[in-house]
Amino acid sequence: MNKSELFDIVETERGWLTDLSQSIWANPELAFQEYDSAEKLQDALREEGFEVETGVAGLDTAFVARYGDDDPVVGTMGEFDALPGMSQAATAEREPVEEGAAGHGCGHNLFGVASLGGAVATKRAIERGDVDGTVVYFGTPAEEAGGGKVYMVREGAFDDVDALVSWHPGWNNAPGKGSCLAVDSFSFAFTGETAHAAASPESGRSALDGVQLLSTGIEYLREHVPESARIHYVVTDGGQAANVVPGEAEMECLVRAPSRDEVERISERVTDAAEGAALMSGTELDATKTSGMYGVLPNHALGDAIRENMAEAEFPLTDEQEQFATELKATLDDPSYARVPSEHQEEAAESAMFTKPIDAPDEGQTGSYSTDSGDVSWNVPLGRFSAATWPAGTPAHSWQAVAAGKELGTAGMEFAAKTIAGSLYDLLTDEDLLAAANAEFEERTGDTEYESPLPDDADPYELVDR
Ligand SMILES: [Zn+2]
Repeated sequence: MNKSELFDIVETERGWLTDLSQSIWANPELAFQEYDSAEKLQDALREEGFEVETGVAGLDTAFVARYGDDDPVVGTMGEFDALPGMSQAATAEREPVEEGAAGHGCGHNLFGVASLGGAVATKRAIERGDVDGTVVYFGTPAEEAGGGKVYMVREGAFDDVDALVSWHPGWNNAPGKGSCLAVDSFSFAFTGETAHAAASPESGRSALDGVQLLSTGIEYLREHVPESARIHYVVTDGGQAANVVPGEAEMECLVRAPSRDEVERISERVTDAAEGAALMSGTELDATKTSGMYGVLPNHALGDAIRENMAEAEFPLTDEQEQFATELKATLDDPSYARVPSEHQEEAAESAMFTKPIDAPDEGQTGSYSTDSGDVSWNVPLGRFSAATWPAGTPAHSWQAVAAGKELGTAGMEFAAKTIAGSLYDLLTDEDLLAAANAEFEERTGDTEYESPLPDDADPYELVDR
């Protein structure tokens, strides 16, 4: 089988893949509640002959689908959770389908299905006997909140995989060669004594004082952390009434930095500040680490293989799609093209859809975001890329991204499916590529032993509204 036959498989299956992504788009489900979306993806994989394991790592909506018995084992990941409050129709004006409801603002309806298309095409090549190996699809829930992959990693779900290729919706076609920030999440709950705030304040101990002293401590701490670090927080409970000394108050806090070590050092200082705040306010502190993630370990060997496949895979865009992209793009107040190098920015600015594949724009950079793919990348060589599913310059988590995700984005979805299929096919047929990806992985991980950043008793379902 050659590449164009492999890509033809994706094109032939375009109809039902599009239907599937549109039905997930039409029923957006939040982190860890993606029951319907996960089931639809699982059904499609079962129908195709994959063996599907559900409830992986104790997560209802996490699953692993596998086809084949041979080595090597290659795989891809699919996300499918939506964002709260992002409801939007597939129109070029702000128009929620249902005010306040969830919506696919990060394109995960396309994400899960493109990866599925890539896995299916790879499976067909194995089935025909053209290649030996196993292809695995990881259904990874709760990327937006909760970090499902970190639990799957801890459970060993990725242990027998030789290499992974995954993607994310965006507005340009490029492999990723950059990293991002590791993160720790905390909840700091203070308990004091309630009292009448005017009549007997001396009897009270304010839990809110604890929270405020902690936030002051964090602000002073900022001067003494590396510039690339980030600390941010919200007060989730600041008391109920001004005439009552608050007996309960709570802060949620995130600590980010390029390396796990740095995150842990800063987290320790934040936790010390919380203890100091409790001491100063005469309150009790309950400090809970709720979650943690690694930054992404890039893999240039896989990035290069992805880039080559992008050059071969055609980007299908109809005139109607381009027309809609033009209308949608016109609604962006201040489109930013900063994520692509300056030599491409003019072309991106002039295009409705920027479909030309480009080299990795982020080589050597550490993006100011975190993703649960980071933990995966410290356990398996992981190749990543973005594909253009939104008009050029569209930010993720915008209503325009939701609007594009229903129909326009299925062009980029097909392109992503082909890129995944081509890259997995290369990994199954080119021993040197697989060896290079693994050698690079060994070199980058070096002496660092991956330790799950999750607290032992972490309960993912406590973190999200259900
Ligand atoms: Zn996303």
